[in-house]
Amino acid sequence: MAKINDNYLKLPGAYLFSTVARKTNEFTESYPDREVIKMSIGDVTKPLAPAVIDAMRKAVDEMGTAEGFHGYGPEQGYDFLRDKIVEMDYKTRGIDIASDEIFVSDGAKSDCGNIGDIFSADNKVAVCDPVYPVYVDTNAMSGRAGEYVNERWSNLYYMPCTEENGFMPRLPEEKVDIIYLCFPNNPTGVAATREQLRPWVEYARENGAVILYDSAYEAFITNPDVPHSIYEIEGAKEVAIEFRSFSKTAGFTGTRCAYTVVPHALKLDGVSLNSLWNRRQCTKFNGVPYVIQKAAEAVYSDEGQKQTKEAIKYYLENAEIIREALNDAGLKVYGGENAPYIWAKTPNGMKSWEFFDKVLEETGVVITPGSGFGPSGEGYVRLTAFSTKENTIKAMKKIKDIL
Ligand code: PLP
Repeated sequence: MAKINDNYLKLPGAYLFSTVARKTNEFTESYPDREVIKMSIGDVTKPLAPAVIDAMRKAVDEMGTAEGFHGYGPEQGYDFLRDKIVEMDYKTRGIDIASDEIFVSDGAKSDCGNIGDIFSADNKVAVCDPVYPVYVDTNAMSGRAGEYVNERWSNLYYMPCTEENGFMPRLPEEKVDIIYLCFPNNPTGVAATREQLRPWVEYARENGAVILYDSAYEAFITNPDVPHSIYEIEGAKEVAIEFRSFSKTAGFTGTRCAYTVVPHALKLDGVSLNSLWNRRQCTKFNGVPYVIQKAAEAVYSDEGQKQTKEAIKYYLENAEIIREALNDAGLKVYGGENAPYIWAKTPNGMKSWEFFDKVLEETGVVITPGSGFGPSGEGYVRLTAFSTKENTIKAMKKIKDIL
């Protein structure tokens, strides 16, 4: 009889966002006349930039001509996009990355999840707590996380990110092999400076570990001490894989385009991870559509840069409105300066869900309970800057009024 991958049976339900949605629906049903404002949106809301739409339209027209039609493209992405990425995201920051170290994909989510294919099941994996759940669940699916007991996976090494350590994980006290880091961070919104990142690269070099560095929110960085890429840290090319995405940078959440950098210098036991990832992608992935890669290329044009940066500025202004309002209301507030996420401590030691219920019930504003991102998220809530300015202002006034 065929057997399933029973690691899937060990996974807890997708409790967080389904419960948020259920509670929101119940609220709407109970109070059909009351306004609901979602400060929990993890998706961009502004439309794609005109420069991106123009490029996409042109590419669509090309596809309707015999000369311009594109079928299967290179699995790794078209050179026109890989070259632009190298030039604009790396060369301009003094980082030497070759275009065959770039793998264009349909999302950082897929890449963060799929990267596990090239690592043995018996690696010890370290994750931050709280964490973007994809890192944890994909390791659980492949049997690398062990058993789920008391809200923890037995084989994962958890790195608590708490108020005491400024939401920066401490270096592991035992030897770990794979370390997921995400800066600017989802959910806490904090970003690591070069100084804070350097010891991780040193740890990885000393211990033969690999850092999986998710910089999906790189475009939101405003502090010059915060690196946009882990390769700004000396020696990182030998130990780190980097994930980037056009999702939050340029509003591609529904359009789907991202990329992963696997440097040639990154080798384990003499085996190049670049060639393994290339092999994996060529076998399981057939590339991102030409039209979408043309759209992504347009993000790097002068107009594209100007327009996408305006959208980021808009979201960062929302983040500032949230920070200020919650601060004024007496909450302790973190993040939001280099990220679209604000991490707020609940008042009077309330539990995350307790505060969520209070805010929803009394104001109609939906936030995200921090405990859903891991045990160390208990006592916190996450707010996002992706709403409209009008709704952000309105929601913050409502929250201020009840605190
Ligand atoms: N990485 C982090 C930390 C995220 O928060 C998200 C999306 O919310 C992603 C990756 C997913 O990016 P993509 O849309 O490219 O799949």
